[in-house]
Amino acid sequence: MIAQSHFDVIVIGGGPAGSTAAALLAAKGHRVLLLEKEKFPRYHVGESLMPFCWFTLERLGVLEEMNRIAFTKKYSVQFVTPDGRQSQPFYFFEHSDHPSSTTWQVERADFDLMLLENARKKGAEVRELTPVQRVIKDDSGRVIGVEAAGPDGKVFRALAQMTIDCSGREQVATARDGWRVKDTNLNKLAIWTYYRAAKRDPGIDEGNTTVAYVEDRGWFWYIPLRGDLVSVGIVAEKDYLFSDTKDPAEILKREIGRNEWIKDHLSAGEQVGQYWVTSEFSYRSKFCAGDGLLLAGDAFAFLDPVFSSGVFLALISGEMAADAVDAALVAGDTSGAQFADYGGRLCDVIESMRKLVYAFYDVNFSFGKMLKRHPEQRARLTDCLIGNLAVDFTALFSAMNELVQTPAPLPHGREAAPSLATV
Ligand SMILES: Cc1cc2nc3c(=O)[nH]c(=O)nc-3n(C[C@H](O)[C@H](O)[C@H](O)COP(=O)(O)OP(=O)(O)OC[C@H]3O[C@@H](n4cnc5c(N)ncnc54)[C@H](O)[C@@H]3O)c2cc1C
Repeated sequence: MIAQSHFDVIVIGGGPAGSTAAALLAAKGHRVLLLEKEKFPRYHVGESLMPFCWFTLERLGVLEEMNRIAFTKKYSVQFVTPDGRQSQPFYFFEHSDHPSSTTWQVERADFDLMLLENARKKGAEVRELTPVQRVIKDDSGRVIGVEAAGPDGKVFRALAQMTIDCSGREQVATARDGWRVKDTNLNKLAIWTYYRAAKRDPGIDEGNTTVAYVEDRGWFWYIPLRGDLVSVGIVAEKDYLFSDTKDPAEILKREIGRNEWIKDHLSAGEQVGQYWVTSEFSYRSKFCAGDGLLLAGDAFAFLDPVFSSGVFLALISGEMAADAVDAALVAGDTSGAQFADYGGRLCDVIESMRKLVYAFYDVNFSFGKMLKRHPEQRARLTDCLIGNLAVDFTALFSAMNELVQTPAPLPHGREAAPSLATV
Protein backbone atom coordinates (compact mmCIF):
# COMPACT_ATOMS: atom_id res chain seq x y z
CA MET A 1 0.00 0.00 0.00
CA ILE A 2 1.43 3.39 -1.05
CA ALA A 3 1.54 6.01 1.74
CA GLN A 4 -0.62 9.05 1.06
CA SER A 5 -0.77 12.51 2.65
CA HIS A 6 -2.72 15.73 2.02
CA PHE A 7 -1.65 19.36 1.56
CA ASP A 8 -3.10 22.57 0.13
CA VAL A 9 -0.23 23.04 -2.32
CA ILE A 10 2.58 20.86 -3.64
CA VAL A 11 5.62 22.59 -5.15
CA ILE A 12 7.88 20.51 -7.39
CA GLY A 13 11.50 21.76 -7.27
CA GLY A 14 13.37 23.99 -4.82
CA GLY A 15 15.14 26.42 -7.19
CA PRO A 16 14.39 30.16 -6.97
CA ALA A 17 10.87 29.77 -8.43
CA GLY A 18 9.85 26.88 -6.16
CA SER A 19 11.33 28.27 -2.95
CA THR A 20 9.70 31.65 -3.58
CA ALA A 21 6.26 30.20 -4.26
CA ALA A 22 6.50 27.83 -1.27
CA ALA A 23 7.71 30.52 1.17
CA LEU A 24 4.99 33.01 0.23
CA LEU A 25 2.16 30.46 0.26
CA ALA A 26 3.29 29.00 3.60
CA ALA A 27 3.49 32.54 5.02
CA LYS A 28 -0.13 33.01 3.99
CA GLY A 29 -1.02 30.00 6.13
CA HIS A 30 -1.40 27.29 3.48
CA ARG A 31 -0.08 23.78 4.06
CA VAL A 32 2.74 23.53 1.54
CA LEU A 33 4.90 20.54 0.61
CA LEU A 34 8.03 21.26 -1.47
CA LEU A 35 9.73 18.25 -3.05
CA GLU A 36 13.30 18.64 -4.33
CA LYS A 37 15.23 15.81 -5.96
CA GLU A 38 18.72 17.03 -4.94
CA LYS A 39 20.36 17.59 -1.56
CA PHE A 40 21.18 21.31 -1.20
CA PRO A 41 23.63 22.99 -1.54
CA ARG A 42 23.90 21.82 -5.15
CA TYR A 43 25.57 23.36 -8.21
CA HIS A 44 23.48 25.40 -10.68
CA VAL A 45 24.35 27.76 -13.51
CA GLY A 46 22.82 31.27 -13.59
CA GLU A 47 24.88 33.46 -11.27
CA SER A 48 24.30 37.04 -12.36
CA LEU A 49 21.20 38.74 -10.92
CA MET A 50 19.15 41.57 -12.38
CA PRO A 51 18.55 44.66 -10.19
CA PHE A 52 14.79 44.11 -9.86
CA CYS A 53 15.33 40.73 -8.17
CA TRP A 54 15.64 42.99 -5.11
CA PHE A 55 11.87 43.45 -4.77
CA THR A 56 11.04 39.75 -4.55
CA LEU A 57 14.02 39.16 -2.26
CA GLU A 58 12.73 41.96 -0.04
CA ARG A 59 9.25 40.45 0.07
CA LEU A 60 10.81 37.11 0.97
CA GLY A 61 12.66 38.84 3.83
CA VAL A 62 16.12 37.61 2.78
CA LEU A 63 17.97 40.86 2.00
CA GLU A 64 19.80 40.83 5.33
CA GLU A 65 20.88 37.25 4.70
CA MET A 66 22.07 38.19 1.19
CA ASN A 67 24.30 40.83 2.76
CA ARG A 68 25.50 38.48 5.50
CA ILE A 69 26.56 35.89 2.91
CA ALA A 70 28.36 38.78 1.19
CA PHE A 71 27.75 37.81 -2.40
CA THR A 72 29.78 39.84 -4.91
CA LYS A 73 28.15 43.22 -5.47
CA LYS A 74 27.26 44.00 -9.08
CA TYR A 75 26.90 47.69 -9.87
CA SER A 76 27.00 47.53 -13.64
CA VAL A 77 27.25 45.71 -16.93
CA GLN A 78 29.82 46.49 -19.59
CA PHE A 79 30.29 45.43 -23.19
CA VAL A 80 33.57 44.57 -24.87
CA THR A 81 34.34 44.38 -28.59
CA PRO A 82 36.31 41.44 -30.08
CA ASP A 83 39.46 43.58 -30.24
CA GLY A 84 39.13 44.30 -26.52
CA ARG A 85 37.60 47.78 -26.45
CA GLN A 86 35.59 48.19 -23.26
CA SER A 87 32.39 50.27 -23.10
CA GLN A 88 31.87 52.67 -20.23
CA PRO A 89 30.36 50.47 -17.46
CA PHE A 90 26.63 50.91 -17.42
CA TYR A 91 25.97 51.76 -13.74
CA PHE A 92 22.47 50.95 -12.48
CA PHE A 93 22.64 53.67 -9.79
CA GLU A 94 22.89 56.32 -12.51
CA HIS A 95 19.37 55.33 -13.55
CA SER A 96 17.75 54.98 -10.17
CA ASP A 97 18.75 56.01 -6.67
CA HIS A 98 17.30 52.97 -4.94
CA PRO A 99 18.91 50.02 -3.09
CA SER A 100 17.80 47.72 -5.95
CA SER A 101 20.43 49.40 -8.14
CA THR A 102 23.11 47.35 -6.42
CA THR A 103 22.58 43.73 -7.30
CA TRP A 104 24.67 40.56 -6.90
CA GLN A 105 26.65 37.82 -8.57
CA VAL A 106 25.70 34.69 -6.62
CA GLU A 107 27.05 31.18 -6.28
CA ARG A 108 23.77 29.41 -6.89
CA ALA A 109 24.57 26.61 -4.43
CA ASP A 110 24.51 29.18 -1.59
CA PHE A 111 21.77 31.42 -3.00
CA ASP A 112 19.37 28.54 -3.65
CA LEU A 113 20.12 26.99 -0.25
CA MET A 114 19.30 30.32 1.42
CA LEU A 115 15.96 30.51 -0.43
CA LEU A 116 15.10 26.88 0.35
CA GLU A 117 15.87 27.41 4.05
CA ASN A 118 13.69 30.50 3.96
CA ALA A 119 10.77 28.44 2.60
CA ARG A 120 11.31 26.02 5.51
CA LYS A 121 11.42 28.87 8.02
CA LYS A 122 8.19 30.30 6.64
CA GLY A 123 6.48 26.97 7.34
CA ALA A 124 6.70 24.92 4.14
CA GLU A 125 7.52 21.24 4.58
CA VAL A 126 10.64 20.74 2.47
CA ARG A 127 11.81 17.26 1.52
CA GLU A 128 15.13 16.96 -0.31
CA LEU A 129 16.44 13.88 -2.14
CA THR A 130 12.83 13.32 -3.12
CA PRO A 131 12.33 13.26 -6.90
CA VAL A 132 8.79 13.62 -8.16
CA GLN A 133 8.16 10.84 -10.64
CA ARG A 134 4.84 11.97 -12.06
CA VAL A 135 1.79 14.06 -11.41
CA ILE A 136 -1.41 12.22 -10.56
CA LYS A 137 -4.56 13.13 -12.50
CA ASP A 138 -8.16 12.20 -11.85
CA ASP A 139 -10.52 10.96 -14.58
CA SER A 140 -11.28 14.50 -15.74
CA GLY A 141 -7.56 15.21 -16.18
CA ARG A 142 -7.31 17.50 -13.13
CA VAL A 143 -3.94 17.27 -11.37
CA ILE A 144 -4.61 16.10 -7.83
CA GLY A 145 -1.07 15.55 -6.57
CA VAL A 146 2.20 13.78 -7.24
CA GLU A 147 3.94 10.46 -6.86
CA ALA A 148 7.48 10.79 -5.55
CA ALA A 149 10.29 8.65 -4.14
CA GLY A 150 11.75 9.50 -0.73
CA PRO A 151 15.46 9.26 0.19
CA ASP A 152 14.90 5.61 1.15
CA GLY A 153 13.57 4.92 -2.36
CA LYS A 154 10.04 4.29 -1.07
CA VAL A 155 7.36 5.69 -3.37
CA PHE A 156 4.63 7.80 -1.76
CA ARG A 157 1.74 9.96 -2.89
CA ALA A 158 1.01 13.52 -1.85
CA LEU A 159 -2.35 15.01 -2.76
CA ALA A 160 -3.27 18.70 -2.93
CA GLN A 161 -5.76 21.09 -4.49
CA MET A 162 -2.87 22.76 -6.37
CA THR A 163 0.47 21.58 -7.71
CA ILE A 164 3.02 24.16 -8.89
CA ASP A 165 5.65 22.81 -11.25
CA CYS A 166 8.94 24.61 -10.59
CA SER A 167 11.18 21.74 -11.70
CA GLY A 168 13.16 23.91 -14.13
CA ARG A 169 14.11 22.51 -17.50
CA GLU A 170 12.94 19.06 -16.42
CA GLN A 171 9.30 20.26 -16.63
CA VAL A 172 8.19 17.20 -14.66
CA ALA A 173 4.46 17.81 -14.85
CA THR A 174 4.18 18.43 -18.57
CA ALA A 175 7.20 16.86 -20.31
CA ARG A 176 5.19 13.77 -21.24
CA ASP A 177 2.40 15.91 -22.67
CA GLY A 178 4.77 17.67 -25.07
CA TRP A 179 4.06 21.19 -23.84
CA ARG A 180 7.58 22.49 -24.56
CA VAL A 181 7.68 24.62 -27.71
CA LYS A 182 11.18 25.66 -28.81
CA ASP A 183 11.93 29.25 -29.82
CA THR A 184 13.81 28.02 -32.87
CA ASN A 185 15.39 31.37 -33.75
CA LEU A 186 17.22 31.33 -30.42
CA ASN A 187 18.66 27.88 -30.89
CA LYS A 188 21.99 28.52 -29.16
CA LEU A 189 24.44 26.46 -27.18
CA ALA A 190 26.49 27.45 -24.14
CA ILE A 191 29.86 26.17 -22.93
CA TRP A 192 31.27 27.40 -19.65
CA THR A 193 33.77 26.78 -16.88
CA TYR A 194 35.48 28.58 -13.95
CA TYR A 195 38.83 30.31 -13.44
CA ARG A 196 40.73 31.22 -10.32
CA ALA A 197 42.88 34.33 -9.98
CA ALA A 198 41.86 35.78 -13.36
CA LYS A 199 41.98 39.58 -13.67
CA ARG A 200 39.28 41.79 -12.21
CA ASP A 201 38.60 45.42 -12.91
CA PRO A 202 39.41 47.85 -10.07
CA GLY A 203 37.13 49.40 -7.44
CA ILE A 204 33.38 49.11 -7.84
CA ASP A 205 33.89 47.60 -11.30
CA GLU A 206 35.30 44.46 -9.70
CA GLY A 207 31.89 42.77 -9.71
CA ASN A 208 30.77 43.90 -13.17
CA THR A 209 29.18 41.50 -15.57
CA THR A 210 31.12 41.72 -18.82
CA VAL A 211 29.50 40.73 -22.11
CA ALA A 212 32.35 40.26 -24.60
CA TYR A 213 31.61 39.74 -28.28
CA VAL A 214 33.08 37.20 -30.65
CA GLU A 215 32.93 38.76 -34.13
CA ASP A 216 29.44 38.18 -35.62
CA ARG A 217 29.29 34.80 -33.89
CA GLY A 218 28.40 34.99 -30.22
CA TRP A 219 29.40 36.38 -26.88
CA PHE A 220 31.16 35.57 -23.63
CA TRP A 221 29.90 36.15 -20.12
CA TYR A 222 32.51 37.02 -17.48
CA ILE A 223 31.03 36.94 -13.98
CA PRO A 224 33.29 37.57 -10.97
CA LEU A 225 32.21 35.54 -7.94
CA ARG A 226 33.37 35.57 -4.30
CA GLY A 227 37.04 34.97 -3.51
CA ASP A 228 39.00 34.85 -6.74
CA LEU A 229 36.57 32.74 -8.78
CA VAL A 230 35.21 33.82 -12.18
CA SER A 231 32.45 32.15 -14.18
CA VAL A 232 33.17 32.37 -17.90
CA GLY A 233 31.15 30.98 -20.76
CA ILE A 234 30.40 31.38 -24.43
CA VAL A 235 27.00 31.38 -26.16
CA ALA A 236 26.76 30.88 -29.94
CA GLU A 237 25.20 28.68 -32.63
CA LYS A 238 25.91 25.00 -32.20
CA ASP A 239 27.19 24.54 -35.78
CA TYR A 240 29.72 27.30 -35.28
CA LEU A 241 30.95 26.08 -31.90
CA PHE A 242 31.21 22.45 -32.99
CA SER A 243 32.70 23.26 -36.41
CA ASP A 244 36.06 21.56 -35.83
CA THR A 245 35.81 19.70 -32.52
CA LYS A 246 33.22 18.66 -29.96
CA ASP A 247 35.63 18.91 -27.03
CA PRO A 248 34.31 21.77 -24.85
CA ALA A 249 37.77 22.55 -23.44
CA GLU A 250 39.21 22.88 -26.95
CA ILE A 251 36.27 24.99 -28.12
CA LEU A 252 36.51 27.37 -25.18
CA LYS A 253 40.27 27.70 -25.69
CA ARG A 254 39.74 28.51 -29.37
CA GLU A 255 37.06 31.11 -28.61
CA ILE A 256 39.05 32.74 -25.81
CA GLY A 257 41.60 33.54 -28.49
CA ARG A 258 38.90 35.46 -30.39
CA ASN A 259 38.34 38.16 -27.81
CA GLU A 260 41.35 40.17 -26.66
CA TRP A 261 39.80 41.28 -23.35
CA ILE A 262 38.78 37.75 -22.37
CA LYS A 263 42.19 36.41 -23.42
CA ASP A 264 43.98 39.06 -21.39
CA HIS A 265 41.79 38.70 -18.28
CA LEU A 266 42.06 34.90 -18.24
CA SER A 267 45.80 34.83 -18.99
CA ALA A 268 46.58 35.54 -15.34
CA GLY A 269 44.25 32.81 -14.09
CA GLU A 270 43.95 29.05 -13.85
CA GLN A 271 40.99 27.02 -15.14
CA VAL A 272 39.34 24.92 -12.44
CA GLY A 273 36.70 22.20 -12.38
CA GLN A 274 34.78 20.77 -15.27
CA TYR A 275 33.50 22.21 -18.53
CA TRP A 276 29.72 22.45 -18.86
CA VAL A 277 27.59 22.38 -22.00
CA THR A 278 23.91 23.05 -22.48
CA SER A 279 21.78 23.45 -25.58
CA GLU A 280 18.19 24.03 -26.64
CA PHE A 281 17.77 26.66 -24.03
CA SER A 282 14.97 28.76 -25.46
CA TYR A 283 11.43 27.51 -25.10
CA ARG A 284 8.02 28.29 -23.70
CA SER A 285 5.31 25.96 -22.56
CA LYS A 286 2.17 25.66 -24.71
CA PHE A 287 0.02 26.37 -21.63
CA CYS A 288 0.71 28.09 -18.32
CA ALA A 289 -1.65 25.94 -16.28
CA GLY A 290 -4.22 23.21 -16.18
CA ASP A 291 -6.87 22.27 -13.68
CA GLY A 292 -5.01 21.98 -10.35
CA LEU A 293 -1.66 22.79 -11.99
CA LEU A 294 0.43 25.94 -12.50
CA LEU A 295 3.90 26.34 -14.05
CA ALA A 296 6.57 28.81 -12.89
CA GLY A 297 10.22 29.62 -13.65
CA ASP A 298 12.06 27.53 -16.22
CA ALA A 299 9.31 24.92 -15.97
CA PHE A 300 7.20 27.47 -17.85
CA ALA A 301 9.77 29.18 -20.08
CA PHE A 302 13.42 29.94 -20.61
CA LEU A 303 14.59 32.77 -22.83
CA ASP A 304 18.36 33.26 -23.02
CA PRO A 305 21.19 34.01 -20.61
CA VAL A 306 22.29 37.28 -22.25
CA PHE A 307 20.50 39.79 -20.04
CA SER A 308 20.59 37.64 -16.88
CA SER A 309 16.80 37.44 -16.81
CA GLY A 310 16.45 33.76 -15.75
CA VAL A 311 16.58 34.08 -11.96
CA PHE A 312 14.57 37.30 -12.10
CA LEU A 313 11.81 35.56 -14.09
CA ALA A 314 11.97 32.58 -11.71
CA LEU A 315 11.59 34.86 -8.68
CA ILE A 316 8.76 36.98 -10.07
CA SER A 317 6.88 34.03 -11.51
CA GLY A 318 7.25 32.23 -8.16
CA GLU A 319 5.82 35.34 -6.50
CA MET A 320 3.01 35.74 -9.04
CA ALA A 321 2.23 32.01 -8.79
CA ALA A 322 1.94 32.26 -5.00
CA ASP A 323 -0.51 35.16 -5.27
CA ALA A 324 -2.55 33.49 -8.01
CA VAL A 325 -2.73 30.17 -6.17
CA ASP A 326 -3.64 31.88 -2.90
CA ALA A 327 -6.48 33.73 -4.67
CA ALA A 328 -7.67 30.49 -6.31
CA LEU A 329 -7.63 28.61 -2.99
CA VAL A 330 -9.51 31.40 -1.23
CA ALA A 331 -12.07 31.51 -4.07
CA GLY A 332 -12.39 27.71 -3.93
CA ASP A 333 -11.77 27.44 -7.68
CA THR A 334 -8.46 25.94 -8.79
CA SER A 335 -9.46 25.29 -12.38
CA GLY A 336 -6.94 26.24 -15.06
CA ALA A 337 -9.15 29.12 -16.17
CA GLN A 338 -8.27 30.91 -12.89
CA PHE A 339 -4.71 31.39 -14.16
CA ALA A 340 -5.22 33.14 -17.52
CA ASP A 341 -4.32 36.48 -15.97
CA TYR A 342 -1.12 34.96 -14.53
CA GLY A 343 -0.18 33.52 -17.94
CA GLY A 344 -0.95 36.74 -19.78
CA ARG A 345 1.05 38.95 -17.42
CA LEU A 346 4.01 36.59 -17.33
CA CYS A 347 4.08 36.32 -21.14
CA ASP A 348 3.98 40.13 -21.43
CA VAL A 349 7.04 40.38 -19.19
CA ILE A 350 8.89 37.67 -21.14
CA GLU A 351 7.95 39.25 -24.49
CA SER A 352 9.58 42.57 -23.52
CA MET A 353 12.83 40.80 -22.69
CA ARG A 354 12.49 38.61 -25.78
CA LYS A 355 12.47 41.65 -28.08
CA LEU A 356 15.77 42.83 -26.59
CA VAL A 357 17.27 39.36 -26.91
CA TYR A 358 16.29 39.07 -30.60
CA ALA A 359 17.73 42.54 -31.28
CA PHE A 360 20.96 41.64 -29.44
CA TYR A 361 21.50 38.64 -31.75
CA ASP A 362 20.79 40.60 -34.96
CA VAL A 363 24.17 41.45 -36.50
CA ASN A 364 22.74 44.59 -38.10
CA PHE A 365 21.51 46.01 -34.82
CA SER A 366 23.28 47.60 -31.90
CA PHE A 367 21.79 49.32 -28.87
CA GLY A 368 24.45 52.02 -29.28
CA LYS A 369 23.21 52.76 -32.82
CA MET A 370 19.62 52.87 -31.63
CA LEU A 371 20.47 55.26 -28.77
CA LYS A 372 22.36 57.57 -31.14
CA ARG A 373 19.15 57.99 -33.11
CA HIS A 374 16.89 58.00 -30.06
CA PRO A 375 18.80 59.19 -27.00
CA GLU A 376 15.45 59.79 -25.27
CA GLN A 377 14.98 55.99 -25.12
CA ARG A 378 17.96 55.37 -22.81
CA ALA A 379 15.82 55.40 -19.66
CA ARG A 380 13.24 52.98 -21.11
CA LEU A 381 15.97 50.65 -22.36
CA THR A 382 17.52 50.68 -18.90
CA ASP A 383 14.13 49.94 -17.33
CA CYS A 384 13.82 46.87 -19.52
CA LEU A 385 17.38 45.71 -18.75
CA ILE A 386 17.04 46.04 -14.98
CA GLY A 387 13.67 44.29 -14.88
CA ASN A 388 11.41 47.31 -14.35
CA LEU A 389 8.83 45.87 -16.70
CA ALA A 390 5.78 47.68 -15.40
CA VAL A 391 6.40 50.66 -17.70
CA ASP A 392 5.16 51.24 -21.25
CA PHE A 393 7.79 50.20 -23.81
CA THR A 394 5.84 51.11 -26.96
CA ALA A 395 8.13 54.03 -27.90
CA LEU A 396 11.28 51.99 -27.17
CA PHE A 397 10.16 49.12 -29.36
CA SER A 398 9.18 51.40 -32.24
CA ALA A 399 12.64 53.02 -32.02
CA MET A 400 14.21 49.55 -32.15
CA ASN A 401 11.95 48.56 -35.04
CA GLU A 402 13.57 51.24 -37.22
CA LEU A 403 16.75 49.14 -37.16
CA VAL A 404 15.62 45.59 -36.54
CA GLN A 405 12.46 43.55 -36.93
CA THR A 406 11.54 42.68 -33.34
CA PRO A 407 9.62 39.41 -33.06
CA ALA A 408 5.84 39.17 -32.84
CA PRO A 409 4.68 37.81 -29.47
CA LEU A 410 4.40 34.04 -29.31
CA PRO A 411 0.76 32.99 -29.38
CA HIS A 412 1.11 30.24 -26.78
CA GLY A 413 1.64 30.18 -23.02
CA ARG A 414 -1.01 32.71 -22.03
CA GLU A 415 -3.88 30.33 -21.50
CA ALA A 416 -4.48 27.23 -19.42
CA ALA A 417 -4.91 23.87 -21.15
CA PRO A 418 -8.59 23.28 -21.95
CA SER A 419 -8.49 19.88 -20.26
CA LEU A 420 -5.47 17.89 -19.15
CA ALA A 421 -7.29 14.70 -20.12
CA THR A 422 -7.10 15.65 -23.79
CA VAL A 423 -3.70 17.35 -24.25
C1 LIG B 1 24.04 28.69 -19.86
C2 LIG B 1 23.08 29.41 -18.94
C3 LIG B 1 23.50 30.56 -18.27
C4 LIG B 1 22.61 31.24 -17.44
N1 LIG B 1 23.02 32.39 -16.80
C5 LIG B 1 22.13 33.09 -16.06
C6 LIG B 1 22.52 34.29 -15.38
O1 LIG B 1 23.67 34.73 -15.44
N2 LIG B 1 21.58 34.93 -14.65
C7 LIG B 1 20.30 34.47 -14.54
O2 LIG B 1 19.46 35.11 -13.89
N3 LIG B 1 19.92 33.31 -15.13
C8 LIG B 1 20.79 32.62 -15.87
N4 LIG B 1 20.41 31.43 -16.43
C9 LIG B 1 19.04 30.95 -16.20
C10 LIG B 1 18.83 30.38 -14.80
O3 LIG B 1 19.80 29.38 -14.56
C11 LIG B 1 17.41 29.79 -14.70
O4 LIG B 1 16.51 30.60 -15.40
C12 LIG B 1 16.95 29.65 -13.24
O5 LIG B 1 17.78 28.78 -12.53
C13 LIG B 1 15.50 29.14 -13.18
O6 LIG B 1 15.10 28.89 -11.86
P1 LIG B 1 13.97 27.79 -11.55
O7 LIG B 1 13.70 27.85 -10.11
O8 LIG B 1 12.86 27.94 -12.49
O9 LIG B 1 14.63 26.40 -11.95
P2 LIG B 1 15.94 25.71 -11.35
O10 LIG B 1 16.83 26.71 -10.77
O11 LIG B 1 16.47 24.86 -12.45
O12 LIG B 1 15.38 24.80 -10.19
C14 LIG B 1 14.63 23.66 -10.46
C15 LIG B 1 14.78 22.69 -9.30
O13 LIG B 1 13.90 21.59 -9.53
C16 LIG B 1 14.55 20.41 -9.11
N5 LIG B 1 13.92 19.28 -9.82
C17 LIG B 1 14.05 18.95 -11.13
N6 LIG B 1 13.35 17.83 -11.39
C18 LIG B 1 12.77 17.47 -10.22
C19 LIG B 1 11.94 16.38 -9.84
N7 LIG B 1 11.60 15.42 -10.71
N8 LIG B 1 11.51 16.30 -8.56
C20 LIG B 1 11.88 17.24 -7.66
N9 LIG B 1 12.69 18.26 -7.95
C21 LIG B 1 13.12 18.38 -9.23
C22 LIG B 1 15.98 20.64 -9.52
O14 LIG B 1 16.86 19.80 -8.80
C23 LIG B 1 16.17 22.11 -9.19
O15 LIG B 1 16.67 22.30 -7.88
C24 LIG B 1 21.30 30.74 -17.26
C25 LIG B 1 20.90 29.58 -17.92
C26 LIG B 1 21.76 28.92 -18.76
C27 LIG B 1 21.28 27.68 -19.46
